[in-house]
Amino acid sequence: MVSRKSRREIESMRRAGRLVAEVLALVEAELKPGVTTRELDRLAERHLRAAGATPSFLGYLGNGRYGKDPHAFRGTICASIDDEVVHGIPGDRAIRGGQIVSIDVGAIVDGWHGDGARTFIVGSVPSATADLVEATRAALMAGIAAAVPGNRVGDISGAIEDVAVPGGYGIVRQFVGHGIGTQMHEEPQVTNYRTGARGILLQPGICLAIEPMLTLGNEEVEVKADGWTVVTTDGSMAAHFEHTIAVTDNGPEILTMV
Ligand code: MG
Repeated sequence: MVSRKSRREIESMRRAGRLVAEVLALVEAELKPGVTTRELDRLAERHLRAAGATPSFLGYLGNGRYGKDPHAFRGTICASIDDEVVHGIPGDRAIRGGQIVSIDVGAIVDGWHGDGARTFIVGSVPSATADLVEATRAALMAGIAAAVPGNRVGDISGAIEDVAVPGGYGIVRQFVGHGIGTQMHEEPQVTNYRTGARGILLQPGICLAIEPMLTLGNEEVEVKADGWTVVTTDGSMAAHFEHTIAVTDNGPEILTMV
């Protein structure tokens, strides 16, 4: 069941989304060689808590469940470096120049979620890697542009695919975008490729987290022994961008913006 959010509910999601954007800007400013992903995580958690928000990822067990469990996610942010696609766990690793780092963060305000991610380039990287990062960002923006009333969810997927495929990029299929609201992951799924189904009709009040994940290699990914970190199987570089958006009468509104 796909729910349509009221104006008031979207206002709460807008506040959560703004905090997500603020955290990504803070992390961007601190993302220099030598900083550890744990230091970035602390910065993110402090910012959310100071604003009265709750991190969406901390203590997450999957399938909408949270708990104090050794398998729960141990971070406010996901920090995924180079061939890591998503869900990297913050820790003692120091960032080095020449890396690409995807930072994903979720915030809960008054029970409503915001979810966003950006991939940052640290220092200089080969042009093919920089092009991958830019193509993934462009794929996200193309997907968002298709999120207008009267279109279908499948139109978002197609718009993303139409940026990724001509560039020769691998499109990760195992992880996809999603509806979002009082749960971090709600219906519908938003694939980053055409499935052959048109998907649900987009109507005002539908809120989605759109999140293309592209690689310099193929689409195959696997989960590392830590139980969370998703890496490309061929070791190729991966990039990830995400915004939470609301479909409105005036078109898509990006909620994860400052
Ligand atoms: Mg997401």
